[in-house]
This record gives sequence, C-alpha cells and structure tokens, in this order.
Amino acid sequence: MGYKWHKIIMKKLFIICLTLCVTSVMAQSRVRCDICGGSGERVAKCTNSKCHNGAIYCESCDYKGTKDTRCSNCSGSGSLTKYRNKTCSYCHGNKYFPMERQEKCTHCRNGQRPTTQNGQTVYINCSYCRGAGTIPVSYKAACRQCGGRGYDGQESYSVTCNMCGGRGYSSSRCTKCEGKGCYPCPTCDGYAKIKQKCQSCWGEGYVYVKD
Ligand SMILES: [Zn+2]
Ligand SMILES: [Zn+2]
Ligand SMILES: [Zn+2]
Ligand SMILES: [Zn+2]
Ligand SMILES: [Zn+2]
Ligand SMILES: [Zn+2]
Repeated sequence: MGYKWHKIIMKKLFIICLTLCVTSVMAQSRVRCDICGGSGERVAKCTNSKCHNGAIYCESCDYKGTKDTRCSNCSGSGSLTKYRNKTCSYCHGNKYFPMERQEKCTHCRNGQRPTTQNGQTVYINCSYCRGAGTIPVSYKAACRQCGGRGYDGQESYSVTCNMCGGRGYSSSRCTKCEGKGCYPCPTCDGYAKIKQKCQSCWGEGYVYVKD
C-alpha cells in the first residue's frame, strides 16, 4: 500500500512543480542588464599580477633595456696589465755618459811648434793646445748598469681596456624587450584592461525581473 501512496504523491508533486515553473516564468520579464548595458561584457582590470598599466617589466634585462656582458678582453676588471722596459735608474735612459779624455795634439810636439824668427828657428806655444801638448776630446761612455741599452729589466703597468672603455662589461640591446625595458602584457594585449563576461547576466546582456 505504501508504494501506491508514494506514486500518487509523486504525481501530485510533479504537477505542482510544473505549475510553479510556468507561473514563475510567466511572472517575469526580460530586461536589459544594467550592469553591462546589454553587452554581456564588463571591462575589468587586467588579471595578470605582473601587468603594470598594460606593460610587463622585462626581467631578462632588469628593466634596463640593455644587457651587460662581462668583457672578455679584461675579464671584467676594466684594465689590462702590460709590460715595458724599465728605464735604467743609473743613466735615466740616456744610455751614455758624456766623458772627456786628453788626446795628444797633432799640431805640435809636446805643445811647442817651431817657427822662424829673424832667420832662426824658435819654438812657441802651440795655438791648438795652448802649449799643453794635449787637447780634450769628448766622447760618450756607455752606461755600465744597462750596457748602453737605456733600460734595465721590465716593469708592469696597467692600461684602460680598449674594448670596454674601463667599464669591465659591454652593453648590448635586450632582445626580449627590444631595448624598451618592458613589453606589452600578453593577457590584456597592452590595454591594461580585459573584457570579462558580465556576472550579473552571465554574459547574456539581459536579466529576468519579476513583474
Ligand atoms: Zn550584464
Ligand atoms: Zn743605464
Ligand atoms: Zn798642440
Ligand atoms: Zn674590458
Ligand atoms: Zn629586456
Ligand atoms: Zn595586462
């Protein structure tokens, strides 16, 4: 008997339900959604957390637009060590010292020259060596410390790296952001705003209101 009763109740419930549905639909009318103005869409702020007004800062170049690469020429130090000949401290690079030595005068004999005076041969002081018999001759003596080379060993010195200008790195344009430091946000295409389905009308553009 329980089964029979059950069947009757179900049947009645179904009819009630159907009636309610029909009357509720009949009691509603379709109106334009005020929230989206009937478009079914709403403009919302870009959902990408990295988006700044439509732009994404380039992390590849740290927003600089350029990328720094360590200079291979100086290994990043900015300077190069070179070697040069160390100037001789003894002759200061002059290689030679001016010297003077006495050489025998070729115009006389021991400073005296014979001349004829009143038919007699007399000896007078040589005018070239002024009677000294020798004349001073200057010559160059090679420096004994450097052997006349002017330098003594080698010394190191540093010069600014010509490849990086002393910076230790060279900059090149970032290829990811094309040197701009940022690129358009792929979520909003650079517009900073995205179109979303209106949540009031589920994108339909209209809602039902009770009459
Ligand atoms: Zn809407
Ligand atoms: Zn020297
Ligand atoms: Zn002389
Ligand atoms: Zn360098
Ligand atoms: Zn970049
Ligand atoms: Zn965006």
